[in-house]
Amino acid sequence: MSLLEGSVGVEDLILLEPLGEKSLLKNLQLRYENKEIYTYIGSVVISVNPYQQLPIYGPEFIAKYQDYTFYELKPHIYAVANMAYQSLRDRDRDQCILITGESGSGKTEASKLVMSYVAAVCGKGEQVNSVKEQLLQSNPVLEAFGNAKTIRNNNSSRFGKYMDIEFDFKGSPLGGVITNYLLEKSRVVKQLQGERNFHIFYQLLAGADAQLLKTLKLEQDISNYTYLNQEMSRVGGMDDASNFRAVQSAMSVIGFSEEEIQQVLEVTALVLKLGNVELTGEFQANGIPASGIRDGRGIQEIGELVGLNSEELERALCSRTMETAKEKVVTELTVIQAHYARDALAKNIYSRLFNWIVNRINESIKVDTREKKKVMGVLDIYGFEILENNSFEQFVINYCNEKLQQVFIELTLKEEQEEYKREGIPWTKVDYFDNGIICNLIEHNQRGILAMLDEECLRPGVVSDSTFLAKLNQLFSKHSHYESKVTQNAQHQYDHTMGLNCFRICHYAGKVTYNVNSFIDKNNDLLFRDLSQAMWKARHPLLRSLFPEGNPKEASLKRPSTAGAQFKSSVAILMKNLYSKNPNYIRCIKPNENQRQGQFSPELVAVQSRYLGLLENVRVRRAGYAYRQGYKPFLERYRLLSQSTWPHWHGGEREGVEKIMGELSMSSEELAFGKTKIFIRSPKTLFYLEEKRRLRL
Ligand code: ADP
Ligand code: MG
Repeated sequence: MSLLEGSVGVEDLILLEPLGEKSLLKNLQLRYENKEIYTYIGSVVISVNPYQQLPIYGPEFIAKYQDYTFYELKPHIYAVANMAYQSLRDRDRDQCILITGESGSGKTEASKLVMSYVAAVCGKGEQVNSVKEQLLQSNPVLEAFGNAKTIRNNNSSRFGKYMDIEFDFKGSPLGGVITNYLLEKSRVVKQLQGERNFHIFYQLLAGADAQLLKTLKLEQDISNYTYLNQEMSRVGGMDDASNFRAVQSAMSVIGFSEEEIQQVLEVTALVLKLGNVELTGEFQANGIPASGIRDGRGIQEIGELVGLNSEELERALCSRTMETAKEKVVTELTVIQAHYARDALAKNIYSRLFNWIVNRINESIKVDTREKKKVMGVLDIYGFEILENNSFEQFVINYCNEKLQQVFIELTLKEEQEEYKREGIPWTKVDYFDNGIICNLIEHNQRGILAMLDEECLRPGVVSDSTFLAKLNQLFSKHSHYESKVTQNAQHQYDHTMGLNCFRICHYAGKVTYNVNSFIDKNNDLLFRDLSQAMWKARHPLLRSLFPEGNPKEASLKRPSTAGAQFKSSVAILMKNLYSKNPNYIRCIKPNENQRQGQFSPELVAVQSRYLGLLENVRVRRAGYAYRQGYKPFLERYRLLSQSTWPHWHGGEREGVEKIMGELSMSSEELAFGKTKIFIRSPKTLFYLEEKRRLRL
C-alpha cells in the first residue's frame, strides 16, 4: 500500500505550496468533494462535516488504524484517537482531545467517534465491557436532555461537555467523570422559529404509553403545550418514540433505578405543565395590580404530580416576600412579573434537573481507587460565536474560546519553540498573537468585565444594564481590545454605527459586538425565594432535592455566586485540567448552512478557518519540523534500513541515527540533530522512511 496513493490535494497542509488562505481552502474543498473529509496540520486533524454516512468507520478501519503509526494512513479521527490512546497506555502521558468548531460542524459526532474507537481498542472482559457500555450510554441520555433541533443543526448540543475517561495501568477503562457547562436554559420556555425545545419533551410525549402519560398527567398531543413550538414538532430522520425507549434503556444501563427514571420523567412533565399555567391580571381592593391563576385545573394537577399544595404554589407564583431582619412584607406581582416568575421557575427546574442527571451519571461511572489512573479527557464545547445579536451567552462562550486559544498557544506553539531551545536546534522565532490581553480584559479578578458585572449586580441602589455599560466605558476607554460608541478605537475614531447599549470586544478571532440588555439579569440568575421554598416543600423527593436553598433552616442571606462567576471558575478548573495533559486537536468545519452533503461554500469555510486559526497553525508548524522522535525509538524502528546498523549496532544511539540518515543521503536541510531527538522537517521524508522500512520487512 502506498501511503499517498489515492489521496487528493495534500493530506497535510504543512505540504501546501504555495501557502495562503486561498490555497488552503481550495485544498480542503478538493478533498471534501472527493469525500476526503479529514486533513492534517501536523498532528492536528481538520474534519469537514460530510453530512452523509461514509464507509470509513467500520471495525476494519478501527483495526487498521490500530496497527499503524500516525502518518502512515490517510488522515482520520481514528489516527488521533489511536495516537492519544497509545501514548496514554504505553508512555503514561495523560491526554486530552479538544474538539472545537461552530454549531453543526460535527464536534459531537467526532467525540462519539473518539469514544467508540477507544472503547473498541481498550481492554476486554465482562467487567471492562460493562464500564464501556455505561460510558457510551451516557451519550443518548445527555443528548435527550441537553440537545435540541436548531436552525443550524437538528441535533445541536445546547451545553458544553468535558469528559475524563479513566484507565488503569494496563489501559483498561475504569470509569469517568463528566462536567457540563452552561446549558441553554432559555430554550425551555421559548424557541426561535424553526427550532424545538429539548428532545426529551417530544420523546416523552411520542414514546410514553397511555399508562405512563396518565400517571404523568400529560396528553400526547404536542399542541397542548405552550412550551413546545407548535409548527415544529417533528425532525426529519428522527424517531422520537423509539429514541424515548433508547433513553430509558440507557438510563437503566447506567444504573438509574426504575424509581429514579420515573422521578426524572415526573419533573420533566412538571416543566411542561408549568408552561400551561396561565396567569391573569387582577386588581387588589386598593386598586393596585395583582395576578392570579386563570384556570385552577392545571395547577391542581401539578400539585398532585409532585406533592405540592396548589394554593401555596399559586401564592409563590403570584407574590413575592421581602424579608428584612424585622419583618416580612408580601407584594403582589403584576401579571407580567408572575409570568416571568413562572418561566424562571421552569428554566431553573429544568437546568437543575440536567445537572442532577449529570451528577447521577457520574455517581455510576466514578472510579473508586487510590491507584494511579491514566486519564483521557474529551472536550466537546461550543465554538466561537458571532450572531446577529450577541448577548451574555455569546460573551461567556467566546470567553471560553479565548481561553482555549490560550491553551493552544501555550501548549502547542510555545512548547514547540521551547522544545527546539531545549534540544539546541537553531530556530527562527515565529510571531504569533498572544491573546492574554483579551483574557485579562474579561477575567481579571478586580478589573475584568466579569468582575465589573458582578460588582454591578451586588451594588446596592439602582443598577441596570446601562450603569454596567457606563462603568465599562469609563474603565476601558483606553483598552486596545475594547470599543463602544463613546470610546475611541485604536484609530482615535468614534464608532457611530454601534448601538448605544453595546460594547465590542476584539477577540482573537474577530470583533464581536455585545448588547448589554439583560446582562445583569442573566448574571444574577436569581430565583425568588418564594419559589425555591415552594419547591422544597414538595413531597417529590427529586424535585425537593433540587432546591436545597428552599429549606428555611438552610436559608442563609448569603447570595449564591453569579452565573458569570460560576462559569469563570468552571473554565479555570477546565484549564488547569487541560494544562496537565498532552493535547490533541480536532478542528471541525461546517461546509455549508444547509446540512447538505457535497456542498462546500468557500466563504463560510474561510470564516471558520480564521476562527480556528488554521493558517497560523500551518505557519508555525512549517517554520519548524513536522516530526521528531527520540534517538532510541527512532534507531529501533529504522535500524534495518542501514547496513552499518543492521543486524547489530554497538555505537551510540545518536551516531546510529546519523549513520542511517547518511546512508539514505538525506539532505541536511531536511534534518536536525537535537540533544536527545532527531527532527524531520517534512512528513514526506517520514513517508519515505516508512515505505522503505515496509519493503524491508
Ligand atoms: P456539533 O456538535 O458541532 O454541533 P454534530 O456533531 O451534532 O455538530 O453534527 C451535526 C450533524 O452533522 C450530525 O447530526 C450528523 O448528521 C452530521 N455529521 C457530523 N459528523 C459526521 C460524520 N463524521 N459522518 C456523518 N455525518 C456527520
Ligand atoms: Mg454538539
